[in-house]
Amino acid sequence: MGTTFSDPTNLTLDRLEKTLDRYHLDLRQAGVEVNIVMCNNDSGPAVKVHGVPALASIKINSLLDRKEGKKDATIKLDEDAWDLLNGEEQTALLSHELRHLRVLKDDAGVVKRDDIDRPRLKMRPHDQEAGLFYDNVSTHGEAAPEVAVYRQIVEKMGELLGGKTKETA
Ligand SMILES: [Zn+2]
Repeated sequence: MGTTFSDPTNLTLDRLEKTLDRYHLDLRQAGVEVNIVMCNNDSGPAVKVHGVPALASIKINSLLDRKEGKKDATIKLDEDAWDLLNGEEQTALLSHELRHLRVLKDDAGVVKRDDIDRPRLKMRPHDQEAGLFYDNVSTHGEAAPEVAVYRQIVEKMGELLGGKTKETA
């Protein structure tokens, strides 16, 4: 059977609202509304991004979909994976997805609105994309672009997590 969809629990919706309140005031202040759909698939990944299995994805809904009653954006969550995360990890996952949303503003800093007066959004790409072919690494070794990307990520993560440890210590 293919992927099936269900509604999130109130606990999950509550976590989304709290994540918006705490980490995404820009979206809150613009009145951006986000929905969650839980995804299940017994025979393969329930959620994919660019063809690769993912814990979650987010999509800005079209003007027509908004007109027909959908919220401004929809987050898909892999329900089995979601249930295995602790609360802090769930919040961080939602926060990752919400970081993909950028509110469009005019030169005066006023939120741009669409034809039905909803805030206009644009997708923010990742700071880093790691498209890795392991067989390219085994074939080309150090010359493979994957190696440089991997080293860059390790260095950046060390920097970010190191800073975090100091801050909270
Ligand atoms: Zn992402």
